Amino acid sequence: MTALHSQTLTELASGLKKGEFTSVELTQVLLDRIAAHDDKLNAFVTVTASAALATASRADAARVAGIGGALNGLPIIHKDIFCTRGIKTTCGSKMLENFVSPYDATVVQKLADAGAVVLGKSNMDEFAMGSSNETSYFGPVKNPWNPECSPGGSSGGSSASVAARFAPAATGTDTGGSIRQPAALTGTVGVKPTYGRVSRYGMIAFASSLDQAGVITRSSEDAARLLGVMAGFDERDSTSIDQPVPDYLASIGDSIKGLRVGIVRQHFDAGLEEQTGARVKEAIAVLESLGATTVEVDLPNLDMSVPTYYVVAPAECSSNLSRFDGVRFGYRADDAEDLLDLYCRSRGEGFGDEVKRRIMTGTYVLSAGYYDAYYLKAQQVRQLIADDFRKAFADVDLIAGPTTPSPAFKLGDKVDDPIQMYLNDIYTIGANLAGLPAMSVPCGLVDDLPVGLHLVGAHFNEETLLRCAHQYQQQTEWHKACPEAFK
Ligand code: GLN
Repeated sequence: MTALHSQTLTELASGLKKGEFTSVELTQVLLDRIAAHDDKLNAFVTVTASAALATASRADAARVAGIGGALNGLPIIHKDIFCTRGIKTTCGSKMLENFVSPYDATVVQKLADAGAVVLGKSNMDEFAMGSSNETSYFGPVKNPWNPECSPGGSSGGSSASVAARFAPAATGTDTGGSIRQPAALTGTVGVKPTYGRVSRYGMIAFASSLDQAGVITRSSEDAARLLGVMAGFDERDSTSIDQPVPDYLASIGDSIKGLRVGIVRQHFDAGLEEQTGARVKEAIAVLESLGATTVEVDLPNLDMSVPTYYVVAPAECSSNLSRFDGVRFGYRADDAEDLLDLYCRSRGEGFGDEVKRRIMTGTYVLSAGYYDAYYLKAQQVRQLIADDFRKAFADVDLIAGPTTPSPAFKLGDKVDDPIQMYLNDIYTIGANLAGLPAMSVPCGLVDDLPVGLHLVGAHFNEETLLRCAHQYQQQTEWHKACPEAFK
């Protein structure tokens, strides 16, 4: 039998069902692994060992009684951006270092109802602002493939945990690439669903028109399994969309013969590191060998996606983060002289540098005199980018390309150069601006570091992405590659 920590959700579900092991045994194996190895990665902010064992024991009883949910007894980790009742939710910030939410996010609730066992809360860039996990108040997360490298961000604790076999799956959130980029850099699968597919209720807001919850797993099949539970209408989220959730697992085994795969001309230009591009092209050749046909498509405004994002996202963040004022939530400075001093000092001491940079940029682009020149203009360009995708999807079923311009970079390498850091999301941000579903699938190694194949679909067409990735994973072994130190 494959070691429990190496098994996928699907394999573990079958082992539990057959009685090969119990959820308590499985949970203990993973908790022991986390205790023994997380000092090398710093992937967790909070480990919830006793709560996990209690949930596992209830799951075992439910299984025996034949009443367990779809994920009964299966271990997962939550990004520390999802509110969890009674357990700290820090969002990677000093501002929320001791914040305990009085309620569960819808995602947390749905996974709990399905019987999942939560091992803990994962480290992340502060308020999900970052691409390397270096903006976290709790320190950077290290990449299990090479501890000198970043695991990506902002969902770096989730991606590192799944890559290091601390858990078969974790939740994440993606505003500009924060699920897919860390998935690519750690050799895991990351899915950002269509905007509105998964509820944002109880997910701490960064940029509300872009934020979307999703999953990090090791197989597309596992992602389908988890997404099926998380997705669906929620009346508590006004942007949630009331559309039936298909059974993602039902179609995942279907062939991709005849699938039209768009290749974006602009994706393979000078910005892409050569070997990364070569691995992505090999992956596309595998799709062709499975009967897919490739069609060249044009996204003429792609190079404007990063600048557009860095107007829209900070604008929304400056508004969302105004709630952290030292009065209602989180950190409060001591001995304030008056109310203004309380606001200034609580925010000045509670937020880190990158968050402050975004709040200042956002406040600037929204201010009188600059609103039309920056914010309104960015909204117009956002529309052009969305139109480019709409035109492309008239000819193709999905778009395939690189997730990131290169494999994982060294921690410290880009911290002093925010533009270089921002450019890491050049291929992922478009899907957020247009609200499209997208995923990253491990497609090879470059100098012993993983890289990812990026798939983008039309609105609400997660099914095609998951099926394409699953068929690819039936032909390749990249998703099974495990960092040497975590075998
Ligand atoms: N890296 C991007 C940023 O810093 C995206 C983050 C995200 O998707 N949450 O904003």
